[in-house]
Amino acid sequence: MKLKPLFWQLYPAFLVTSLLGLILVTIIACVTFHHFYLEKSLEDLQTRAQILSGSIKDQDVKSSTFQQRVVALGQQIDKHISVIDFDGHILADSHRPKQIGKSVLEDPEVYQALNSVEGAARAQRYQSFFKKEYLYFVTKQMEITKTPYLIRVGLPIDSIYQALKSIYLKVFIGACVVIILVALISLYFVYKLTLPIEAIRKWATQVATGDLSLRINTKNVYTKEVKSLAQAMNKMAFNLKKRMQTIHQQNNEQQAIFASMSEGVLAVDTKQRVQLINHAAKQLLQISGIDCISTPIQELIRSSEILQFIKDSLELKAPRDKEIKVFAETEKIFKVTSTPLILQKGKFIGCVVVFSDQTQIRKLEQHRKEFVANVSHELRTPLTSIKGYAETLKNTAVDDENQQKFLDIIIKQSSRLGDSIDELLTLSRMDKESKLELEKGSLKQVLESAIEVCRPKAEVMQQKLSFTDETNNAYAYIHPHMLERAVVNLIDNAVKYSGANTQIDVILSKKDQYFSISVIDEGPGIEQKHQDRLFERFYRVDESRNSKVGGSGLGLSIVKHVALSHGGFVEVESHSGKGSLFRICLPVS
Ligand code: ADP
Repeated sequence: MKLKPLFWQLYPAFLVTSLLGLILVTIIACVTFHHFYLEKSLEDLQTRAQILSGSIKDQDVKSSTFQQRVVALGQQIDKHISVIDFDGHILADSHRPKQIGKSVLEDPEVYQALNSVEGAARAQRYQSFFKKEYLYFVTKQMEITKTPYLIRVGLPIDSIYQALKSIYLKVFIGACVVIILVALISLYFVYKLTLPIEAIRKWATQVATGDLSLRINTKNVYTKEVKSLAQAMNKMAFNLKKRMQTIHQQNNEQQAIFASMSEGVLAVDTKQRVQLINHAAKQLLQISGIDCISTPIQELIRSSEILQFIKDSLELKAPRDKEIKVFAETEKIFKVTSTPLILQKGKFIGCVVVFSDQTQIRKLEQHRKEFVANVSHELRTPLTSIKGYAETLKNTAVDDENQQKFLDIIIKQSSRLGDSIDELLTLSRMDKESKLELEKGSLKQVLESAIEVCRPKAEVMQQKLSFTDETNNAYAYIHPHMLERAVVNLIDNAVKYSGANTQIDVILSKKDQYFSISVIDEGPGIEQKHQDRLFERFYRVDESRNSKVGGSGLGLSIVKHVALSHGGFVEVESHSGKGSLFRICLPVS
């Protein structure tokens, strides 16, 4: 069914009802007027007939002056007057002198007046002589001494109609004015009634789209019920808006917490479709694409072990956890925990799976294990050697030459042990105080001092050790002692690993926002594959080479630590057989 607006239901109904009422009243008024006027005209005819009979009663109806008198009276009162004898013959006629003597007994009013007790009659009929509708009144005149006769007075109906017509016109105009007034007044009232309802409808449509800030204007509402309805709705919108704001805020807070979690969170339904996923989960599981909601997890997760874990969790409907290794670009270790999602009514709807990346922790654990093993090994090797030679000296008869040789080895191994312990202590101290106390100092001075420490060893190797300052004695915020130690480590490595008669250059320069301290040698160089791990503790490129030159494997990790503590970094550029370049970069400010 086609729905109509309230206005178009009320207004036409008002209008039609008012119109019908008015038409009915108009018709009743016109009919009443019609009858009233006819009645009045007949009464008038009757009165006229009586007056006429008075004015002609003394006249001789057969005299010639009688006809003239009747004609004069007819003209005077503008009526058709006939005087008729009891045989029905016309004695005189105001408008038809030629009809005198003719019988009008067939005229119904004449016949009725002659034969009725009252001696009077009325009729409305067509008058063939005048070719018009006429209204007649006939009455007997009995008291006349000479000849009794009938007086008939008539008037054409159309003159009555003419008079009625002007009344009808006035009634019609009045009715039209009333109709226009009714239409305007009912338009005004219907409009006033429907306007606030329309405003409420518009408001409700807006509210349905989510705009709760809109209010209904109740100022011009004069209907009590509609006004209180509008006020109630305004209050409802206000409360709803407040509640929505609270929900929105809570939702935002939850979203923010959810998004900023470092653990990946994934909620799946019983059909293994994603219901919720946070940013961390997408990153950990390498899921691209923004909208994963309702996507089956098989389309998003590649690890069959994780998929199996989720499947089992959904089947078991109980909390579980497992450590799962995932092989993507790099190997990752996840601790995966699942918790069943159960509604208040006890219905199981899926589970929440939390992923935490354990890769770094496991790596650190591994490093720690390796470090402990390395430290034990590093300390055990010289100790075993010292112990072995000391026992030999004690238990065996050794000649002087060998005794001297063994004692040299014991001294060398104990100093190696001392160096290792010293470097370990340095590293451990630096681990504790990750930031060094820096002071403004001359880089040139630090480098010169480091070179002087290493020079005797280089001279033994007949190596040429040179220093170039391209910065013109630059100053920087440094820890002079630790920086000197780091540079000594680099120069010492260059001396140790380069052969005799080689050149070692130490260059201080400035590039962009960094001062760089480069130590360049002509030694054996380092293969690319080792370069990433060079700065790890105890990492050595070649064990056999190292055992010859003797080193703890901690020198470069101290260098890296010192550079980082200064807010800088270290670099290495080297190719097998083509020498090496180690660079410490320190920030200018
Ligand atoms: P080490 O005490 O053994 O020298 P480092 O940490 O100082 O330990 O160096 C790590 C490894 O890097 C060394 O064992 C060595 O194999 C390699 N290396 C360091 N500096 C050089 C260099 N200038 N030339 C060639 N190899 C080097």
